[in-house]
Amino acid sequence: MDSPKKIALLGSTGSIGTQALEVISAHPDKFQVEVLTAHSNHTLLLEQARKYKPNAVVLVNDAHYKNLSDELWNMGIKTYSGEEALAQVVEMDDIDLVVTALVGFAGLKPTMSAIAAGKNIALANKETLVVAGDLVTKAASAKGVNIYPVDSEHSAIFQCLAGEFHNKIEKIYLTASGGPFRGFSSEQLGKVTREQALKHPNWEMGAKITIDSASMMNKGLEVIEAKWLFGLKAEQIDVIVHPQSIIHSIVQFEDGSMKAQMGLPDMKLPIQYAMAYPDRIHSAFPRFNFMDYPNLTFEQPDPKTFRNLQLAFDSLHKGGNAPCILNAANEVAVALFLQDKIGFLGMSDLIEKCLTDVQFIEKPSLEDYFTTDQATRELAQELASK
Ligand code: NDP
Ligand code: MG
Repeated sequence: MDSPKKIALLGSTGSIGTQALEVISAHPDKFQVEVLTAHSNHTLLLEQARKYKPNAVVLVNDAHYKNLSDELWNMGIKTYSGEEALAQVVEMDDIDLVVTALVGFAGLKPTMSAIAAGKNIALANKETLVVAGDLVTKAASAKGVNIYPVDSEHSAIFQCLAGEFHNKIEKIYLTASGGPFRGFSSEQLGKVTREQALKHPNWEMGAKITIDSASMMNKGLEVIEAKWLFGLKAEQIDVIVHPQSIIHSIVQFEDGSMKAQMGLPDMKLPIQYAMAYPDRIHSAFPRFNFMDYPNLTFEQPDPKTFRNLQLAFDSLHKGGNAPCILNAANEVAVALFLQDKIGFLGMSDLIEKCLTDVQFIEKPSLEDYFTTDQATRELAQELASK
């Protein structure tokens, strides 16, 4: 029997992180935790470290670092703090797979350093591909590193491509649930609250992606993510609203044949597929019952009302650092919305303004992406405080 895959789990305290740990717990013969990391949730990180006994943990925010490190060093677990440590810990010799379950632009640096160290990636952190998909995929192919998608739609495409990697994709359809505000008018969107936006009909997720799903930005980010993961042109990617979230996405080949991947909406399945690839391993997750879903329905998305989706498509077409601007402005906008500082529609206004005002760079370097991210955040904060 093969020895267990050694996993570095970045963002272990989040929604994807905790579900990845459930998968690991169910398959101790297949996976072993090598590294756990969090931003600030030291209590949960400590609990997880006691349970999974990793080789090392990183708490990015040093505010509660001392308590954590005192206890863990006594147990023989190395502890580190700070952003740099996050980028360094993924290079450890023993790691077989880095699961990037942290949220936002913060994923870019550790992902790049994991790739440079030759580690395969199970990627949940879509923002990294949105911001710098060109550099990330180039670095991965230069190093022979595989990037396995965790995002359910991309996992669906990836699963449909098994045995088909040599065949040309004509197009893909990414399915979208439509979120809690499906069918709303702009006027209605203008009145929605933070609490309403945080209630997703089909998925339990972290706060940022839940707001992104409500605004359709999540689907926009996923279109860009798909471009890089599967080497597609913008015209080859379509979005279709499918409120039941049973069909997770669809590939159409040159002969017109379409393959879809379906199942109940449970992130543990794509997480497990990415971690166990190329094997399918047993799961005890609930099975799909057709009679619970006599109708699977489809609708056109509405990018005129859900402007974030249009802004994402525009950024994809523009290329360069435009998706990086889109992402940074969106991260600030979502944070401000969650603090009740701007309204739901204010998010699109802010993003649109940043896309017009931040300097466009056609062929950005890695350094340019960091500068663009910073400049956009500053501008977005400034605009919001006016
Ligand atoms: P959560 O907010 O639930 O968790 C985020 C994790 O990242 C936490 O462990 C958090 O630590 C850590 N973190 C937050 N900020 C930083 C930072 N600046 N530096 C380092 N670590 C940080 O997010 P989700 O699990 O929902 O999402 C994670 C990623 O997966 C996102 O990119 C999302 O788009 C993607 N994704 C999520 C899905 C889902 O179902 N949740 C589905 C598909 C994709 P702490 O707890 O200490 O704050
Ligand atoms: Mg998704």
